[in-house]
Order: sequence, then C-alpha cells, then structure tokens
Amino acid sequence: MKKLFQARQGIDVPDHKGLTNNKKTVKGPGSEELVFPMTMHIGAPAEIIVDEGNHVKIGTLIGNATKTISANIHSSVSGQVIAVEERESFKGKATCIIIKNDFMYEEERLSLLDESISIDEFLERISEAGITGKGGAGFPTHVKLDPPENGHRYILINGAECEPYSTTDHRVMLENSQEILRTVSFMHHLFDVKKTIIAIEDNKSDVIRLYKDSISSHNMKHIEIHEVPSRYPQGEQGLLLKTILDLEVPEEDNASNVGLISSNVSTIKAIHDAVFMGIPLTERVVTVTGPTLKNPQNILTRIGTPVQDLIEFCGGFAHETDKMISGGPMMGQPFSDTTIPIEKDTTTLLFLPYDAEVRKNERPCIRCAKCIDACPVYLQPILISNAYRESRWDLCEVLKTETCVRCGCCTYICPSKIPLLEDISKAVKQLKEIKERDENK
Ligand code: SF4
Ligand code: SF4
Repeated sequence: MKKLFQARQGIDVPDHKGLTNNKKTVKGPGSEELVFPMTMHIGAPAEIIVDEGNHVKIGTLIGNATKTISANIHSSVSGQVIAVEERESFKGKATCIIIKNDFMYEEERLSLLDESISIDEFLERISEAGITGKGGAGFPTHVKLDPPENGHRYILINGAECEPYSTTDHRVMLENSQEILRTVSFMHHLFDVKKTIIAIEDNKSDVIRLYKDSISSHNMKHIEIHEVPSRYPQGEQGLLLKTILDLEVPEEDNASNVGLISSNVSTIKAIHDAVFMGIPLTERVVTVTGPTLKNPQNILTRIGTPVQDLIEFCGGFAHETDKMISGGPMMGQPFSDTTIPIEKDTTTLLFLPYDAEVRKNERPCIRCAKCIDACPVYLQPILISNAYRESRWDLCEVLKTETCVRCGCCTYICPSKIPLLEDISKAVKQLKEIKERDENK
C-alpha cells in the first residue's frame, strides 16, 4: 500500500517568524551544570562510558552507541562528571550524565578528513560524531544516509522550515551558506546522484537569493534551488517529495530505500563540521521565542543547557506565560519543567500567554469535514478520533492511523476544538503496543 502524499495546498497559519527571523544567531550562555540524557535520539539509549569524578573536554565521548540505531553523545563543555542519575527530559524520564562546567572550554576533536573519503568513511565519521537529524526528528543520520543496494538517486535538502515561530534553519542557512553548499556538493559527487535539490519556502527570499548567487558564482550548477509555497505543512518530507520529485515512499519503506537522501539544512551544517573540521555534534541553534519573552533570539546553544538558562539569557518574561512548547505550535510538545536540557533535536522553545480561544472546551463535531480537507495525507481525522474513543483498534488500523505525520492541521482547523491530533497520537501508540504484544506472543 502506498502513502497518498497528494500535493495538497496545506493550510494558512500565521507564521510569527518576524520575532526572530532578522536576528543574527548569538552564542548562548555558559551554564554551571549541563545535563545529557542518553535517550536524546530515536533508537537505543547510548551506553554511559564515564564515571562520577571523570574530567571531560568539549567533544569527549560520554555515551556510546552500542546498537545500529543509536547515536554517540559527547560533552559540550569541559569540566567534571558530578552525577549519573535519572532526570526529566523532553522524551520523559531518562538516565542522564550531569557535568559541572569548569569554564575552561578545553576541546578535543576528531581527525580531519578531506574530500577523497569513501562513502563508508563518510558514514563512519557521521556515526562517530553522533549526528542525528536536527530538524526535530532525532533519527541517527549515518543510518538514514546508508545507501540501499541500487544506490541513491536524489538528494533533497529540506530548508522549508514551515513550523510557525521557528527560524533556526533560516538563520543557519543565511549564516553558513558556504559550509552548507560545500557539503551538499560533496555529497552529490560522493553518492553520484542524478539530482540534488535544496527546497526553500518562498517566504525566505534572502536565503533563496544568496544560494542562487553562490551556486552561480561557484559553478555548482548540479545543485538546484527549488522554491516551495510557504503554506503549512510544506516542510513535511512526504509532501516535499511529492511536490518536488513526484515521488512517493511506500508505507513499509523509508526514503533511503527508494533512492532518496533527505536531510535538514542544520544537519548538513553538522555533517560539515564533523567531516571537514573534526567537530562532534555538541551544539545547535535554538529559536527561543514567543510573545511573553522579553527578547526572543536565535541562540547557538550547547547541548545539555537547561531551558531556564535560555529564558534568562532572553531577559526573562515580559508577560505571564501560560504554555511552554518544545518545537512549534503545530507539532511541538508542551512541557512544564524548565530544568529540562536542550537536546540535539530541540529546534525551538516557544512561550505563549493564556489564549481563551485555544482553551475553549471541546464541542460536538458539526460534520463540517474541514479536518478531512486539511489532512495532507488524506486521512479522516474525525473518524480515527471516534474509533480511538471507542477503542476500535481494528477500525483505527483500517483508517491508516499510523500514516499520520503529526502535522496538527486537523486540530488547528477544527471549529469544535476537538483535540484530534492528541487522540490520533494516542491511537498510534496503542496500535504499536498491540503489534509488539502480538509479536512477542
Ligand atoms: S495530524 Fe491530522 S491533519 Fe496532520 S496528518 Fe495527522 S490526521 Fe492528518
Ligand atoms: S473539523 Fe472538527 S467539527 Fe469539522 S468534521 Fe472535523 S472534527 Fe468535526
């Protein structure tokens, strides 16, 4: 069965990017203590390889990936390991390494590589450097880029960044164009693909201009810039593929198996640093934003920095904050504990005031079908929600619940304020648990 990623138009959502899109990235605070959850990626937790009392530097390996789908974790400061304990993280309770910063910022790096490396050496370096998708998915990049038997045919770099408020990728693209283009061009030749595209939403005209000029002046005609409409959820991988390459990924497959390398622009910058500079993934740009913050900013943040330190770095709150979200308002996860640390896939921290409209109580469905029209993957959200509430797991399966891409369009558009995405996410979780139980019988 194929996923039906039709080139729907998406929905109009106010983008709120004006709070930070013209602000240059600034270097973040030096926290006293940094917290490293061993589960900050999709896959098996990293295995702790340091003990309390050990001295570490920036780039010291502290968590080792022992399974294929896992990722190495490195310290982002120099200092001392002061505890290994369970703490709250964006992904729930996790075993964490706590490091006390000595503010010396001593560093250790991996060896430098050049452009003569093989695909295996390239993937090995990405794995060694602990790179995972920085666009919010957190999937280990060395696994994602591993070529299928018949090789890769396309590279699609995702610079769409359609989630409201987020300007991380926008700033990374503007401020690192040479590094990103060098790496994309290198990957084009390394994987010997027939087409390489960077997709950018048409509300980022400064980035589009810059990249087109650079491509032309550096004779990189093999890289194509593709402008996509700035409508939500244009950055979703399946929609990008359908819109740009008219390609669909079968439900049981991943993009790599159909010959596609797809990667987020910030991940490409991390690959550049790992391969050409020997720097493991220890920091990332986070958009810290929202109408209640005094000074929203794009902050180059050490992985492991507590959220509270970033709030203070932005001058604290100017207004009462009702809701804190990791990610944007459409796909993000609410959180309540500001001691939680920044992870490799934390793109945005969003702070919102009380909104009477959002907090309105759910009303009965008026059968307007707006949720069905809005769904980019042609699901029937209200039917899935009903099936979930009646514990009809067979029906949830028939309704293809697991193909939901969690874009949140259905919840956003629903005039009756029915938490459709919440119901659908719970149904997906339940279906997974049922399948696991059946497999273990
Ligand atoms: S969140 Fe709603 S609109 Fe988005 S894919 Fe899932 S069901 Fe469709
Ligand atoms: S958008 Fe809301 S009210 Fe309209 S059909 Fe869907 S669930 Fe019902």
